[in-house]
Amino acid sequence: MSIGFRDTVVINGSVITGDGRTFLEKAIVRLRDDRIVEVREGTEMATEGAFIIDATGCTVMPGIINAHAHGCIHGPTMPSGSMPFAEHHVAYFRNRHLLSGTTTLLNVCGLAAPDEICPPETEHHPLDIHVSTAHTPSNIAAAMEIDGKGLSERHRALTIEQMIADGAKALGEAGGGQTLGGGAQDYRFIPAAILTATGVAVHPKVARSLKEAVLGRSLKGDGAADQPVLEQLMESCGLKAHLGVAEMRELIVKTVIPPVALSLQGFWEIAAQATRFALPAIFHTALPTIETLLKIAASNPACVMVAGHANHPSFLPEEAVRFGLELRNRGAAIDVSTLDCVHTRWRNDPDNLDALIEAGLADTISTDFAGGDWDSILSAVQRMVTKRQLSAPAAVALATGNVARIFPQLAGDRGVLETGRRADLTISESHNLSRVRHVIIKGEVAVWNGGLIDGSGPVARTSPAEITAL
Ligand SMILES: [Zn+2]
Repeated sequence: MSIGFRDTVVINGSVITGDGRTFLEKAIVRLRDDRIVEVREGTEMATEGAFIIDATGCTVMPGIINAHAHGCIHGPTMPSGSMPFAEHHVAYFRNRHLLSGTTTLLNVCGLAAPDEICPPETEHHPLDIHVSTAHTPSNIAAAMEIDGKGLSERHRALTIEQMIADGAKALGEAGGGQTLGGGAQDYRFIPAAILTATGVAVHPKVARSLKEAVLGRSLKGDGAADQPVLEQLMESCGLKAHLGVAEMRELIVKTVIPPVALSLQGFWEIAAQATRFALPAIFHTALPTIETLLKIAASNPACVMVAGHANHPSFLPEEAVRFGLELRNRGAAIDVSTLDCVHTRWRNDPDNLDALIEAGLADTISTDFAGGDWDSILSAVQRMVTKRQLSAPAAVALATGNVARIFPQLAGDRGVLETGRRADLTISESHNLSRVRHVIIKGEVAVWNGGLIDGSGPVARTSPAEITAL
């Protein structure tokens, strides 16, 4: 991009530095090679030999760091160790993240190897992608119990120690919707089992209602009293002609329950290994896991615990806040995920997200996956700002400075706009931060005017004067 130019200088933009407080009305950000070399208020600067980006009307912030995503690597997917996504899906997921301002991404499927981020036969992608590891006996056994078709002998033999030596940046995700009766059961495993048994395709929302009628929100079978609800549900979606209520109950139990105990056992193994290797560990937070999480937090004070998607739809808003506070009091960092609850709202609503943000309990924000339905982090940030839940600097910090602090091995060299940090910038329209104009990764333009670009694209051939005139 900056071929022939010594520095890249972003001028005329507002700046949010990512530290949670600092907003500069008009400021300059100067990059040299892959580093930030200057951030200061004002408009005056030396432009000679510099590649100029005019950010008038825009806000310059650190590149977004998403520490809980799936589907962006070529290895086994999800804590179920399922088959890899097709290459074109992986490319699409990566592009969606990049185009929405993400520059660093932690893929927390947990069972893929670092060399499956970008195998030699696949196309290079500018997004900086890393993996986590959940290679413990119980997590692998839980994956095999529910699916495991993406796991080779090599994956099953990998250890956390080996994964960290090869570059894994965190532990987890411990458990997941697949192994713990969460979202992936609703959109994948339960509908597939019902389709096989009856030939009827059910909507994920129906699958979730059936699951909760049989097992309750906590999977403890406390929905046993909901026989009339179950009957009514089966009637309304045309299942009653195919299955009896007892058969449906058995189908749900057989589909959801087998990996649950193993997966919860895996939580303890992850906590022990995370403590041993002094790396943060991400845990699947939901009503069925909360008791275990609270026990682990109390008995592993040295473990850096991240309560992933603490706004999980299995909670009522009041529960999300109460458990979030209990986890926070025991030293855990609270992550919230956009899922599909910012504007897609296919299955989830924003109540739990709002409740945690308004209670001041969110430390970080990520997307998670939600069956491919995640909304962008900056759309959630913009919503927080518009609803006056948080100031723009505080909202942006959830996906920049805070993530860098909690995940130093992943992002300690970035996430804040200050001299010496990595030159990862996201430049968005100030009146709607989710509208991303430009993205710079390691000093190179990766997105320009909302479009993907590579090093040989039009920016490289445009003179500074033309750029300034854009
Ligand atoms: Zn999860």
